[in-house]
Amino acid sequence: PPADQPKIAINAHDLPYLDPGRPVGERVKDLLSRMTLEEKVGQMTQAERSALRSQDDISTYALGSLLSGGGSAPTPNNPQGWARMVNSYQLRAQQTRLQVPLLYGADAVHGHNNLHGATIMPHNIGLGATRDPALVQRTGEVTARETRATGVAWTFAPCLCVVRDDRWGRSYESFGEDPALVESMETVIQGLQGRVDGRDLADGDRVLATAKHYVGDGGTVYGSSTTGSYTIDQGVTTVTRDVLRRVHLAPYAEAVRRGVGTVMPSFSSVDLTDDGKGPVKMHGNDELINGELKGRMGFPGLVVSDWQGIDQLPGDYPSDVRTSINAGLDMIMVPDAYQEFVRTLLDEVRAGRVDEARIDDAVSRILRTKFQLGLFEKPYADTTHADTIGSAQHRAVARQAVAGSQVLLKNRGGLLPLPADSKVYLAGSNADDLGNQAGGWTVTWQGGSGRTTVGTTIREGIHQVAPRASVTYSKDASAPTRGHDVGVVVVGETPYAEGIGDVGNEHDMWLGKADQRAVDTVCGAMKCVVLVVSGRPQLLGDQLRSIDALVASWLPGTEGAGVADVLFGRRPFTGRNPVSWPRTIDQQPINVGDERYDPEFPYGWGLTTEHQVRAALSQAGVGRRALAVRDWDRHPRQVFRSLWRAAAILQHTPHSWRERNAVVGAARHLAQRAVVAHDAQSATAKLTADAEHRLLTGDVVGAVSLLAEAHRTAVG
Ligand code: BGC
Repeated sequence: PPADQPKIAINAHDLPYLDPGRPVGERVKDLLSRMTLEEKVGQMTQAERSALRSQDDISTYALGSLLSGGGSAPTPNNPQGWARMVNSYQLRAQQTRLQVPLLYGADAVHGHNNLHGATIMPHNIGLGATRDPALVQRTGEVTARETRATGVAWTFAPCLCVVRDDRWGRSYESFGEDPALVESMETVIQGLQGRVDGRDLADGDRVLATAKHYVGDGGTVYGSSTTGSYTIDQGVTTVTRDVLRRVHLAPYAEAVRRGVGTVMPSFSSVDLTDDGKGPVKMHGNDELINGELKGRMGFPGLVVSDWQGIDQLPGDYPSDVRTSINAGLDMIMVPDAYQEFVRTLLDEVRAGRVDEARIDDAVSRILRTKFQLGLFEKPYADTTHADTIGSAQHRAVARQAVAGSQVLLKNRGGLLPLPADSKVYLAGSNADDLGNQAGGWTVTWQGGSGRTTVGTTIREGIHQVAPRASVTYSKDASAPTRGHDVGVVVVGETPYAEGIGDVGNEHDMWLGKADQRAVDTVCGAMKCVVLVVSGRPQLLGDQLRSIDALVASWLPGTEGAGVADVLFGRRPFTGRNPVSWPRTIDQQPINVGDERYDPEFPYGWGLTTEHQVRAALSQAGVGRRALAVRDWDRHPRQVFRSLWRAAAILQHTPHSWRERNAVVGAARHLAQRAVVAHDAQSATAKLTADAEHRLLTGDVVGAVSLLAEAHRTAVG
């Protein structure tokens, strides 16, 4: 605690809520009974830290929460600076009458990304590609430890959007297009928060998580509410009630089961086609917040608005405030109009337009959360774990996640993995750019190009992983000389967080001109591998034919060596498409389960090598029969039969996702080999994608059967 920490002004023994020995429910009730209406409304107010007129306002308004938001002024760039900053605010909160600590929040959406030097994970789209819930949980643990060590107890993550149209500028924040995939990745909540019952939250290495943006943000066509020709974010999701439930609500039901502490409504609107009401903004959506989330799902935590989210509601400000609070929002990210918000909500309550019982419910949820986080006992930053920030150990977890997220889309002639002593001609806009490979929400809100933080670019990763390789690097692929074994061209997007997406790319998802030229030059001169570093699929058109091997790298973050690991075979390719990779822009929205389905690379696509499939199977201990068939290509039906039998056993074995993955992985491998050999991509795309969906929903037998069918279809 800082030296100027005030002495406890009240006698702890006399006040039940300060006694950590009492049950949380009792403490909440006691504290609530002592609060004035002003103090309660203060708790419901979240201000942006750089919007504070004066630190005195923390006590004047008894503010409940502060945040370092995306669009905020720069925050300290070292852990100590962060801890000091948060402590100085907590100190003010300790000077209030009841000494209720602040809840400090930030967007730690892929690591503690606000902090220079932190470990930056792949964005969610890449984590979804890993299909590895345990690994994703570990990324959450790392993020939590680095975040809490700077005094921040709350992250506005994970995003549980189910992205249905990749033209949406925030597609990269989605784990994928299939709700079952999103649900399987929600282990990240346990990584962040610890045990489901919240008992770990008070530990110095956990943070409160936020499921966002509730609900349907990923279902907006084109991301758009079409002002002008397009807007690409914050639009309308037009669906039947049934689709809303199955696709968009399901991941939230799972998050509630996993004990997620907070939920943030979406800027977007939901238009239920079967109720005829038209679009309703989520920030005022009583039916979906009070009714669905807090009612049917029984969410006991707190609902926090998005940045000025209530201001977008129809009507004047008093109406915005009353509509949102009555719809079930508990805390408002105002984020700078805190005085006006407090005044308005007080008026609304006094006039009887917002029930005081609603206020008590909201404040109880907030206080319960603060007690659970142990903030009353330890309001100041616990820097015990500060030396783990950006540590080798944490970076190793990120590197593993990066390797696991790489999706091998094409591999003509088995070009990948590359031999360790290859002569490589390396080019492209994203080959040596740390900021570009980290994407948005990295140090600054929109992210930026260049050396924005500490980490390893893909180029540096190649040097580390393959020191015997000789690498000639030219960003713009000028004058590729002869004598190279292979060209590696790293292309893709430049960073963006919210809004329209990469400039120059937002309308059509095509590679930029310079990247297209680099691909042309290099692939015209030698065998080539193209790595696409981007938050969503990129269109390649006819260029695809000239590319020998193609890898979707997504937005890997600071550990570029993870990309090099799979490139040079230090780790196997295991990533699979989290979204359908379209051929043309007008195929959007394109998703697994669609009636007509003809993507370039289907959902779930991702090539593997036979060696790695055999290893996985024997590791799983269920593949002996399959392995006994020596020649897979000569007797595929026998192999499929063995796999089918193994699947039938696993189908009813709980917690066997690793083995299930191995069995379905073998079936997938067999099918994909046939698909590639017979160039039968489009004929089999739907079967492959559906198989992937079956696997996620636990139907292992169904998955293997569909892949067997894909195999039969491919070989004709
Ligand atoms: C974003 C949220 C984010 C918030 C706070 C908003 O603009 O939509 O995802 O949590 O800002 O930075």
